[in-house]
Amino acid sequence: MESKNNDNKNNKKQNITIIISVILIVIAIVGTILFMKYNKKDENKDFSYSQLLTSIDEGLVEEVEMVEGSNTAKVKLVNEEEKKNVLIPSIDSFMELVQNKSENGIKINFNQKERNIFVNILRTLLSFLPTIILVVLVFMIFKMQGLGEKGKVYDSETQRTKTKFEDVAGLDEEKQEMIEIVDFLKHPKKFQEMGAKVPRGVLLCGNPGTGKTLIAKAIAGEADVPFISMSGSEFIEMFAGLGASRVRKLFEKARKVAPCIVFIDEIDAIGSRRTSSSGAETENNQTLNQLLVEMDGFDTEETIIVLAATNRPEMLDKALLRPGRFDRQITVALPDLNGREAILNIHAKGKQFAEDVNLRSIAEDTAGFTGAELANILNEAAILATIRERTSITNKDIEDALKKVTVGIEKHNRVVSEKDKKRTAVHEAGHAVVSHFLETQKDIKEISIIPRGIAGGYTMYKSSEDKCYISKNEMEEKLIALFGGRAAEKLALGDISTGASNDLEVANDIAKNMVTVYGMSDTVGQIHINLEKDPYQLELLGDKYGDIIGNEIKSLVDNAYFKAQTILANHMDALEVVSNELLENEVIAADRFEEIMANM
Ligand code: ADP
Ligand code: ZN
Repeated sequence: MESKNNDNKNNKKQNITIIISVILIVIAIVGTILFMKYNKKDENKDFSYSQLLTSIDEGLVEEVEMVEGSNTAKVKLVNEEEKKNVLIPSIDSFMELVQNKSENGIKINFNQKERNIFVNILRTLLSFLPTIILVVLVFMIFKMQGLGEKGKVYDSETQRTKTKFEDVAGLDEEKQEMIEIVDFLKHPKKFQEMGAKVPRGVLLCGNPGTGKTLIAKAIAGEADVPFISMSGSEFIEMFAGLGASRVRKLFEKARKVAPCIVFIDEIDAIGSRRTSSSGAETENNQTLNQLLVEMDGFDTEETIIVLAATNRPEMLDKALLRPGRFDRQITVALPDLNGREAILNIHAKGKQFAEDVNLRSIAEDTAGFTGAELANILNEAAILATIRERTSITNKDIEDALKKVTVGIEKHNRVVSEKDKKRTAVHEAGHAVVSHFLETQKDIKEISIIPRGIAGGYTMYKSSEDKCYISKNEMEEKLIALFGGRAAEKLALGDISTGASNDLEVANDIAKNMVTVYGMSDTVGQIHINLEKDPYQLELLGDKYGDIIGNEIKSLVDNAYFKAQTILANHMDALEVVSNELLENEVIAADRFEEIMANM
């Protein structure tokens, strides 16, 4: 929360700075235009000094008008209407010369005009304006970039971290690699003597929240070396060239404190493939090039290991992955069941739990969660327990925290009409009853008509196993379960509603993937379509093929809808009991649902 506020403040500050800069630039432009306009007459120095002298000698000059404080004279020639402006190099010697000439009988009206003081001041001010604005602008830019005196917002951070391997749960294979890196940092000599090259860059690949930063910190902590970190997105700024200079500074710092760890988060922000040379990309290139230069320039004596994190390694410029750069990769996967339990155990330290809490069963319910999300759940649970004035965290607190993290905050206070409630109850009961009769979908965890996020209600499934693969049968049954809601509305209420739009979206996505990605349609065959990789793939297959694919997707979802209706038509009594109990209690837990179904 706090850091979010800070971010907001920084953003606001930056926005204001941008607005002020724009205003200043506009003033500068307007000022310059005014200044040029005002001085336009002066600039019209269409008559040279030597021409003037000749004209005086020849007696062609009728009048010379000098304006005080200016070195321009207005000259009226005998036969001409318009006065000419002449730049006078030295006014004193010109006056002397004119006096001499007058004495020699050449007639010149010599006028000296005093210029308006106000105009004088304005003129001086205007002439300085662009310079003043430029100075202010440069100052602001520096401040914004954190290079000024105080604004170190975006500077890299050097830390001593106490994080150790024992703080990183699971990731046993990854730890093996990490131990090696720690060894390099601790005993660089040993490896050099053996002629082994110390690794320079290690790429940590994985989803956000899987613990990449944690791993980098743990390596620094175990090796007891400084941890210098910066995020890739911070290198990319509006002002060209600064990214590269930041990289230079980062490594300057690293060289001073080596051996050390340099951690670059979101490296894809600077290291994505160099394609075109539009503005932003050029800036990225400079930054990226500087990074490559720095990494290539490491001395064998210096032990600086650069760890970089990304969740899109395929996006990275190949140059980054060459030997001597980021030539090692550690893939940080989502934690499996044991991993999740271990992570929960780590974050449970220092918290009081009630007897009924079983971390293993929470781990079972959280397949697909990242370490960060698991840590967040326990933290939310602790907050809930505090609010509820408990002495320890109960299972209920954890369950609520889990729901909060997954589906959004409960909205008890949203007023829902009785009619809507009834429809939601029928819809959710439909999902649950249909699922009950599907071998792969039957593990219902909870049915609820309490609105959460944008959903009016929800049916939650237990996710006890970690699966690598999903079978065709399971996907088909998933489609049927998804249509359970709409089918129930149709059969029990005689009409369907918009409430099923999300179900339809998910179902259509699944059906499309079955046909075009997983080759699960017999008619379409073993086709894998990837338009990102090959935009012309559909053309290659031909129009007719497109029709077949479309028909196949349609028949998958239509069949599923039909099957859902068939199941419900045979179990209308169950649908009624479940939906009525939902209306009454708002929530039905797994055990109660099983009980109802067993009695049908
Ligand atoms: P990433 O850098 O991959 O986005 P982080 O390292 O910032 O993720 O992880 C965020 C937080 O999640 C960590 O500070 C830690 O509290 C928790 N976490 C993530 N993975 C693990 C793990 N394997 N073991 C323990 N805690 C973890
Ligand atoms: Zn639904």
